[in-house]
Amino acid sequence: MNYEDIERNKKMVDSVNILGTEYKIYIKKMQDDTKLSENGWGGYVKVNTKSIIIADLDSLAEYLDVEKNEAKNVQKVTIRHEVIHAYLYESGLWSNSSSPNHWAIDEEITDWIAIQSPRFIRTFTELEIL
Ligand SMILES: [Zn+2]
Repeated sequence: MNYEDIERNKKMVDSVNILGTEYKIYIKKMQDDTKLSENGWGGYVKVNTKSIIIADLDSLAEYLDVEKNEAKNVQKVTIRHEVIHAYLYESGLWSNSSSPNHWAIDEEITDWIAIQSPRFIRTFTELEIL
């Protein structure tokens, strides 16, 4: 199976340059992706194919009654989370982490950066220090 076959049933929505490496972002239905469905993940990063896979929240029963904006915000936080993972990988810090408990792979620090980064940017913008 070549790269095109693997990626065929995903909808690419964007790409982003992460420390010089292009990552493609795909939105995928939970039922079409075993990693998403079996783990209950909202997304994940595939560093070997430089892909970020995000769950299509519209395909989930629990999001049927949720406001569109709320679902979009959850999706944005998930994309930021996976982008942070990609940054940590591309910076070389993953290779120094031999266990998921090490900080460069750890979910807690990745999520903290993903959730707080908009506040950092607002503060930096307000202070004109970007
Ligand atoms: Zn994660």
